[in-house]
Amino acid sequence: MSVRTRVAPSPTGDPHLGTAYVALFNFAFARQREGQFVLRIEDTDRARSTAMAETAILDALRWTGLDWDEGPDVGGAHGPYRQSERLDVYREHAEQLLGSGAAFRCFCTKERLDDVRRQQQARGETTRYDGHCLDMDPDEAADRADRGEAHVVRLNVPGTGVCRVEDGLRGEIEIPWAQTDMQVLVKSDGFPTYHLAVVVDDHLMGISHVLRGEEWISSMPKHRLLYDRFGWQMPVHYHLPLLRNPDHSKLSKRRNPTGLDYYRSTGYLPEALLNYLALMGWSMPDEREVFSLTEMIEAFDIERVSTGGPVFDFAKLDWMNGQHIRRLSPDEFMDRVGVWALNREALAPLVPLVQQRTERLSDLVSQVDYLLGDRRPLSMEDFNHKRLEPADCKRILDHAIRRLDDLQDWSRDTLHDSLRALAEVMDIGMRDFIAPLFIAVSGRAVSLPLFDAMSYLGRGRVRARLRSALEALGGVSKKEAKRLERGYRELW
Ligand code: GLU
Repeated sequence: MSVRTRVAPSPTGDPHLGTAYVALFNFAFARQREGQFVLRIEDTDRARSTAMAETAILDALRWTGLDWDEGPDVGGAHGPYRQSERLDVYREHAEQLLGSGAAFRCFCTKERLDDVRRQQQARGETTRYDGHCLDMDPDEAADRADRGEAHVVRLNVPGTGVCRVEDGLRGEIEIPWAQTDMQVLVKSDGFPTYHLAVVVDDHLMGISHVLRGEEWISSMPKHRLLYDRFGWQMPVHYHLPLLRNPDHSKLSKRRNPTGLDYYRSTGYLPEALLNYLALMGWSMPDEREVFSLTEMIEAFDIERVSTGGPVFDFAKLDWMNGQHIRRLSPDEFMDRVGVWALNREALAPLVPLVQQRTERLSDLVSQVDYLLGDRRPLSMEDFNHKRLEPADCKRILDHAIRRLDDLQDWSRDTLHDSLRALAEVMDIGMRDFIAPLFIAVSGRAVSLPLFDAMSYLGRGRVRARLRSALEALGGVSKKEAKRLERGYRELW
């Protein structure tokens, strides 16, 4: 059997470290066995998926060097590779499940479902669909659907017994069916949910091994059931351990940079990042820590993936990056610096800002040092301001982070308009409002225009700077974070 693996990102946000991590293991597995590696875009969440996010994900994954053999941009024999273009395929398969009784139509209203959930919660039970529409005559259900009545399609899950699933790393796992919900397979808008689409696509695309994040283990019974009901062989599944913060919580952008754009723009080499991500779940047989992707592929053995929660250690990543930088020849080093930021295209946005403020060409260096490099560390005193208390600065920084997280477009004008709108609802004059942001971003009293600088730095670096400014102001306790969040929500 030929080996085929895939990575299946949802284009609902910035390209994430976790996507590169999962892609890396799928890539190494496929390459080691001379198989194929497929990229599939899982854009069935219509409200959250965007074309811009898809482009950004493809671009970031290309930067890592994990090239895919088939995908929406390169084509292939198993396309289309974008789930929104495969709706007919899912419809047909949902019909098949309805026909055999493996799925059923459900006409329950949101009010009824909320009611059921509340009652189950009050009784301390696992919340689960109560099977209300399960016994409806299928012809009657089909008639109602034909008349246009809103409904979803659900998976018919056994009420009792235990589901046994096999994880390549953990062995057999038993999950009682009572813990598995009668999952919605097709939403009322006709779009499939992840669960239907992933099973249908992995099968039709000939995926032989699924390596994905461990957050999907609890979905195994639903997937197992779907494979059985379709009469298909289930690919071997391996659930990779989640990346964690130093306190072992799930790595999240609230705490640490998780966007690939941050690592790219800060000057990490893709091979160093991949080397580091490889060590998050795996080790070389000789325990060597610094290695190339080719060396990893040669030695890759899925059995050596450990399921403990790997902690993402930023200091170690820096060390690793240094190791890879020192492996480059002087020529390669110069090329990399050029690709990173010192090239015409990357510098172009800075030219109009810098040129007008330059007396001697060498002034350029001090003007852009905080844009190309880190900004200096800050302390409480940096936020001294005539009209703003430290608490006001914190509120501004916190709310700006929240506001910016919602922005899809990261252009100068959008940044300006959306932060101006925030200043207005917070009832703070724009001059005062931008003072703490200015310090947080540039670390200086005088610098290039704020919104241009933010646009140049990109989402990941701006977020990291605003967060570190909050730390300089004493940090935000859990309680304070809750209060700030409530305050932010009440503004709009
Ligand atoms: N679209 C899912 C995600 O973004 C893919 C999960 C899978 O690999 O099955 O995590």
